[in-house]
Amino acid sequence: MTENPKQKPDYPELSRQIKVWAREAGFADARVGPANLPPEAERKLEAWLAAGYHGEMDYMARHGALRVKPAELVPGTLSVISVRMNYWPGGRDPEAVLADGSRAYLSRYALGRDYHKVLRNRLQKLAERIEAAIGAFGYRVFTDSAPVAEVALASQAGLGWRGKHTLLLTKKQGSLFFLGEILTDLPLPADEPEDGHCGRCTRCIDICPTQAIVEPYTVDARRCISYLTIELKSAIPEAMRPLIGNRVYGCDDCQLTCPWNRFAVDSAEADFAVRHGLDDAALTELFAWSEAEFKERMAGSPIYRIGYAKWLSNLAVGLGNAPTTDETVAALRARLDHPDELVAEPVRWALARHGFAE
Ligand code: SF4
Repeated sequence: MTENPKQKPDYPELSRQIKVWAREAGFADARVGPANLPPEAERKLEAWLAAGYHGEMDYMARHGALRVKPAELVPGTLSVISVRMNYWPGGRDPEAVLADGSRAYLSRYALGRDYHKVLRNRLQKLAERIEAAIGAFGYRVFTDSAPVAEVALASQAGLGWRGKHTLLLTKKQGSLFFLGEILTDLPLPADEPEDGHCGRCTRCIDICPTQAIVEPYTVDARRCISYLTIELKSAIPEAMRPLIGNRVYGCDDCQLTCPWNRFAVDSAEADFAVRHGLDDAALTELFAWSEAEFKERMAGSPIYRIGYAKWLSNLAVGLGNAPTTDETVAALRARLDHPDELVAEPVRWALARHGFAE
């Protein structure tokens, strides 16, 4: 493509170049889709909200129809460039951690630095690369942002397909990646969507510890461990606690079991590398952190945002599900007088599970 800002861009060629520049910026792949989703997407979102599946995520309801209408969210949007970036950080075998009730399982996307900043910077770089080639154009970058239905947009653009667990899935590299978008006023030709390849598989539905995938392609967030341990501000509801096991921040079960993730690759991003041994830490070790230690070690991590009290609250539930040992009971007793009921109540519950009614 001629990189002359004064010349009208050759849009099909520009679209091809964007994919090359996206890979140069560290993305595993990029695709271009139209600015709006079909009416069916809006109907599905409305039905999901009407069923209350969003739980306390009021922002999902608040953004409502905007989620499926990027052209209304950012007026002038004609195309959406969807990108993905692999995050798998390596580290200890996740199945081994899940099988050991004394360890803390944290979702593998959260073991390194906060991805929002990394993705936003790279998206910005990509937009600037386009600008250098064609001159000023209208755009806004998003990543994991409430008003954007990013899986639906990415799937419409052919970046992959929506798996029955509702995450974006690819044949080449599974689903262990972050998504980001550039909403732009460039009239780029749309790429072809990809057919789904879940077939008759139901592994993610069957394995979900809380049965949160209520039917293929529909998750009841109120049952989803990611929601319960991250989004929900209050303590995890008692009925769900025994099902959660040692998952104290998010959950990867539906992805770990997915056959397509045998093709997942480790991330090359230093920012996503495991920090503070979080891939294999003991529940008691994390539970012993002071607030200052939590703030210092979790600075720059997505985990920081749930706050210290919710962190302890989740860990107390994990300890309630852990094998009964002197160490576990002593760790819980040490937090019994915690001034915040968000922590103290699950601690009492956990001690009762170990046979100690305090
Ligand atoms: S586990 Fe099976 S049904 Fe679920 S997303 Fe993967 S391929 Fe699809």
